[in-house]
Amino acid sequence: MMEVHVSRGRQRRSMMNSVDVLIVGAGPTGLMTALLLQRQNISFRLIDALDGPVKESRALGIQARTLELFRSLDLDRKILDAGIKSEGMQLYLRGELKLDVDVSDMARPDTPYPYFFLLSQSKTERILIKELEGRGVRIERQTRLVSFVQETHATAARLESPTGVELIKSKYIIGCDGAHSCVRHQLGLEFKGEAYQNEFLMSDAHVDWSLPQNKLCVFLDPGRIGVYFPTMRNGLSRVLTVRRTQAVPEGDATSASATTLEEVQTNFNESTHQNARLAEPEWVTRYSVHHRSVDQMSLGRAFLAGDAAHIHSPVGAQGMNTGLQDAANLAWKISAVLRGEAPEALLDTYHSERWPVGQKLLKFTDRIFTAVNATHPLFLGVRDFLLPIVTRSLMKHPAGKRWIFRFISQLAIHYHPSEAVTERVSPNADDRFRKT
Ligand SMILES: Cc1cc2nc3c(=O)[nH]c(=O)nc-3n(C[C@H](O)[C@H](O)[C@H](O)COP(=O)(O)OP(=O)(O)OC[C@H]3O[C@@H](n4cnc5c(N)ncnc54)[C@H](O)[C@@H]3O)c2cc1C
Repeated sequence: MMEVHVSRGRQRRSMMNSVDVLIVGAGPTGLMTALLLQRQNISFRLIDALDGPVKESRALGIQARTLELFRSLDLDRKILDAGIKSEGMQLYLRGELKLDVDVSDMARPDTPYPYFFLLSQSKTERILIKELEGRGVRIERQTRLVSFVQETHATAARLESPTGVELIKSKYIIGCDGAHSCVRHQLGLEFKGEAYQNEFLMSDAHVDWSLPQNKLCVFLDPGRIGVYFPTMRNGLSRVLTVRRTQAVPEGDATSASATTLEEVQTNFNESTHQNARLAEPEWVTRYSVHHRSVDQMSLGRAFLAGDAAHIHSPVGAQGMNTGLQDAANLAWKISAVLRGEAPEALLDTYHSERWPVGQKLLKFTDRIFTAVNATHPLFLGVRDFLLPIVTRSLMKHPAGKRWIFRFISQLAIHYHPSEAVTERVSPNADDRFRKT
């Protein structure tokens, strides 16, 4: 069905179209959702407001559970070849080295990936995009969801692109549209939480300093944090500093603004007590961070996944991973329902399984961030005394390593006694991934 009407003095084409699923947003969450639906032969459209994929590195850590997801899609080799393993971790308190541990094998025999793996988000996205393109999927760029309504058997969405306005019907709509999600706003869902009263300065640059290039180095000072991430395959390292601010950042989601390499370098050297020289940056940014979540991850025929549903501090490199796991949880359920192999009630288990994971993550990242960001002298005294001793003794024993790794790797996440797990209506109904 096609109609032509005039909008803002210029002729626009308005087209009614119909698919099973409309995926809004082609960040990591939307790309993974698309790939999983494509493999199940589900019809969908994947739209993104931007004219191309992100160029910035953003998320660096890919957790073991996510590597297992990539393995189930035969993409693990491409991911592993593009990134690096973190060989070690050093902890400095007030500039003094307190801990130097090997993290290259975290003693978990039940995963092929018992280590911390780093690859920039832009490269991860590129691998997903290439895979989708190879399978004939077109990402509709510069195409923005403006609004949508829910009808009894479908959703009706209004899209805007340089070619005009389009109305599209889909049985389901998935909001993978990030922290400022239009889908979430349209659903009228609150994004509850608050901003951290901190400023994050970050750069991906060549770093010349006297400390190891291949280890994650964390520096804690009262009210100030510095982090150095190991050098990536392109020769660049990420440096990050966090400092307290007087004002609470405005808005309801993470926002970035300009800074200079000089400002990052000065802050980094103050936080680390080093004399590092940063050069040839690929990315320099200042941003604020919020921890927020919706109360429900689905409403009727609409679902929220990734940053659209939950955002938190970058502690533990969980953000992108959680979005990819949301996608993995939702895609097989929607596919099973669309094929008539499962009742619609199965879709309720998306919220009941994934929302608690998001809540735990918010609490976990908030506690750690508050602890590393503390300024109270008594708390700092206890923390600085106990942290190296406890971490060192845990890292000495395989059981201790496994205990630490289970929190960060996301391998401990399980959905028992969810009905979706016990019924086993799909090959992916279990907690971890098998090749499909
Ligand atoms: C500065 C910065 C640093 C970060 N560092 C880390 C880190 O170190 N570790 C970590 O784990 N995470 C980090 N993150 C978070 C990580 O980048 C996110 O968790 C991840 O990108 C979430 O993926 P997503 O696909 O859910 O959302 P996004 O990546 O935000 O993708 C959303 C997509 O939706 C599109 N979109 C939005 N609105 C519309 C609309 N109305 N119509 C169509 N398309 C739309 C956008 O163009 C975008 O492409 C960082 C984020 C930022 C901003």
